[in-house]
This record gives sequence, structure tokens and C-alpha cells, in this order.
Amino acid sequence: MNKARKLIIAGNWKMNKTVAEALTLVNGLKLELANVKEVDIVICPPFTALESVSKATLDSNIKLGAQNMSENGVGAFTGEIAAVMLKEFSVRYVILGHSERRQYQKETDALIAKKAAAVHAASLKPIVCIGETLAEREGNLTEQVLKTQVRGSLAGLTGEQLLETVLAYEPVWAIGTGKTATTQQAQDAHAFIRGVLAQMFDDATAKKVRIQYGGSVKSSNAKELMSQPDVDGALVGGASLEARSFADIIKNSI
Ligand code: PEP
Repeated sequence: MNKARKLIIAGNWKMNKTVAEALTLVNGLKLELANVKEVDIVICPPFTALESVSKATLDSNIKLGAQNMSENGVGAFTGEIAAVMLKEFSVRYVILGHSERRQYQKETDALIAKKAAAVHAASLKPIVCIGETLAEREGNLTEQVLKTQVRGSLAGLTGEQLLETVLAYEPVWAIGTGKTATTQQAQDAHAFIRGVLAQMFDDATAKKVRIQYGGSVKSSNAKELMSQPDVDGALVGGASLEARSFADIIKNSI
């Protein structure tokens, strides 16, 4: 598939995988994906498996991401993880503002913007998640919600930093539910998000930003989703927990 922007497909392992399980998964992925050059491949294990997975991916085409990061530097922040700690394990990407963290940890757009600034200050790349709930979609509020989240979560970023940022459009009603947005719903939301970026920054910058789709992506729907002009990759939850299913998503997207 010839896309204007290189596809980026990331696996969000969430709170799954012991170190031993993580190593089995990553070794399987290395075998399945050794020849893939067309896609940026990212896996985001839990913090406890980062060291082992980092060593296992050193000589591979698989890049490492974290699922969250503190907006603060090192210090008295019990239970938090600072950028410098992630960098020890060659982490390159950090998922920010996942809907589960927005829901359970009450993360706000303002907090996510602070975290994004900290991620950029450490020369890491944030994957900033946005998306509407079912009630918001049914109330015709999707565009309003997306605009507020994009503006709020990226507040204060420079154009250069935006180019080092990935956005993930994840309709909350499609996460872990088996319900995928139709390709048209995904494309419409992505085009809308790119329009908001063009208003905030400029058209040329907005055209370079990669926007992933997330929400029950699987090998059977990956190709159609990735073929949409404004869909530049995927953020995958459930189907990233098994080597074959994650690898098939990537191979089917090319
Ligand atoms: C996610 O949590 O980012 C996600 C998209 O999950 P799933 O693929 O399981 O819907």
C-alpha cells in the first residue's frame, strides 16, 4: 500500500504479561515480522517487562513504547515513572491519555498536555489518544469532543513537536468491545482531526502527522481501515497480545 505517511502500528499490552509471557510474545513477533520494513512497529508492554523486552528487541525492527509517563521529573511522586527511567530501556514512544486512563485515573486534557510536554522534553514521542463515548456519538457531539480533546491535549506544542507526535483516534465504544468503527466513520473522524490540526498549526504540518485508528482492530479489518486516506496506522489492544494476530494485522496492512 502506497501511503503519503509511513504506517505506524502499535500494540498496547495494557496490564497483561509477566516477564516470561512478554518474552514469549516478543520472540514470536520477531520471527513473524523480521522482514517488515514498510511499517513502524511499536509494542508497549507493562513497565515491569520493559527491561527484558528492550533487550529482546535491540537487534530487531520492533520499537518500544510505554503506556504512560509522569509529567514530572524524578522526585517524590510515589508510584510514578519518569522519562529518564523509560529512556534507560530505549523506550521511544509513550501512550498518553488512553481512554482507560481518562476514565479510571481521571486524566484530563490539561494533564495530558503537560505529559506531552514532558515526553517531548525527553526527546520521546507521545501517542496521544482521543475519542468520543457512545453517548457523545449518539448525541451528535463527536466533532465537538474531538476538537476539545485535540486542542486541549496538544496545547502548547510547537509545530516541530507536533511532527514528532502520533495521534490515536479511539472511539471509546469500539475499544475492547468487538465493535469497530466503519471505515467511513474512521476516515471522517481522522479527516476532521487533521482539519483541527491545520487550524491549530498549518496545513502542511497537519498533512505530515500520523493518525492511528484504535478500537477492535483485527487482521480481517486492518487492510480496509489502513486503505483510508487519513488512517495512518493502528493502536491495537486485545489482538496485540498474541504474536500471530498482531503480526497478521501488520502484514495485512501493507
Ligand atoms: C486500545 O485499548 O487501545 C484498543 C484499541 O483496544 P482493542 O484493540 O482491544 O479494542
